[in-house]
Amino acid sequence: MLRFAPSPTGDMHIGNLRVALFNYISALQRDEPLLIRIEDSDQERNIPGKEKEIFEILALFGIKHQEEQLQSNNLRFHRAMAIQLLQDKKAFNCFCTSETLDAKREASKEGKIAYRYDGTCENLSAEAVIDNTNPFTIRLKKPDHSITVTDLIKGESTFAPDDIDSFILMRADKYPTYNFACAIDDMLADISLIIRGEDYLSDTPKQIAIHEALGYTKKVEYAHLPIILNTEGKKMSKRDDASSVKWLLEEGFLPEAITNYLIMMGNKTPTEIFNLKEAIKWFDLRTISKAPARFDIDKLKFINREHLKGLDPKELSRYVGFADEEIGQLAKVFLEEASTLKELRSKISAVFAPKIVPDEYKEGFDILREITLKAPHFDDYDSYKAYLMEHSGLKGKNLFQPLRILIGGAEHGPELNDLYQHLKNYLKEVVK
Ligand code: GLU
Repeated sequence: MLRFAPSPTGDMHIGNLRVALFNYISALQRDEPLLIRIEDSDQERNIPGKEKEIFEILALFGIKHQEEQLQSNNLRFHRAMAIQLLQDKKAFNCFCTSETLDAKREASKEGKIAYRYDGTCENLSAEAVIDNTNPFTIRLKKPDHSITVTDLIKGESTFAPDDIDSFILMRADKYPTYNFACAIDDMLADISLIIRGEDYLSDTPKQIAIHEALGYTKKVEYAHLPIILNTEGKKMSKRDDASSVKWLLEEGFLPEAITNYLIMMGNKTPTEIFNLKEAIKWFDLRTISKAPARFDIDKLKFINREHLKGLDPKELSRYVGFADEEIGQLAKVFLEEASTLKELRSKISAVFAPKIVPDEYKEGFDILREITLKAPHFDDYDSYKAYLMEHSGLKGKNLFQPLRILIGGAEHGPELNDLYQHLKNYLKEVVK
């Protein structure tokens, strides 16, 4: 089983979506089920409604799953395993207060040495534990050996016991930490391959240490995806609009195009434009570059335009708010200069909206408008143009500029001939 384990603590980031996509593809390729585990253990950071949003986004991107789980429902297992580790002396109760720990952390910082838990509570006698009525956390005893993580993308990384440290499994509020809950849940779900962001690589030896302490010997595979950088080369964060999947959808990027881009970013793909179904045939986690991927919105726009071009005109028409094949064709003409649905919608609505005419073209515009309202239907642009010239006496720029605004909704745009082909049946409506 593979898993995607989002936290319901904010808008879905493109990095999370990339993780979800890679998990989905890998699960299909390995013929294993996919579990969606909502990591809601950090009660204070959960945001109501985010869980529903996660499932909606996954469905929109065609990411199907076989199992669903709320991490908080596993709390009884987290507590039971913590008790087991205490009994086996693999873990210990720690009564150090946060003030004491903060002061020690501060002292390490001043002394310019890395802070490590100093073992104060590791060897307390049973009596000392029982007599102490203060709140306590439960820590795993740091392992006595190094742990090597073998990663399908990053290769091998070895972590010394001190890097792993005696870390906290259960907090004083009796809830598990991320590492503990995650390690237990992955074990209980028999996860075979963990695909997640590279920011979790330093948590992996801790999770392996938990598995070892519990005597769990299954060899779990790992793939940590390199982080995504923004155009300035900094890690893409909430401050970058384009990091939010919701924002990209609102801007009018198609799920198919976002999928295409996220699979291609920092990867070698046989073609530039593809869909998810095709990617399942050739996708290989091992071809993903170790280096951070750089997000390039222009590339995404190019890919989006290619996917928009490939849409059935009826479908494209629906996306821009109509239900008419001809408007879909018109939208395709506008794709020359638009690359998102939002841009297309604005171009098409400008065609049908009352026109904003600069003073210099007002006169010509009014003349052409009157003539068009009374004109018979012309099947081709040349006949329409000839009729306008004959009845208005306008020609050259004085004809084309106002005409462009009249039927194209803007001073610049695609060829009038191309626009006319798809507008001729709506002409009276366009110039009304
Ligand atoms: N809950 C973590 C996140 O939202 C998942 C980490 C993991 O996959 O283990 O990124």
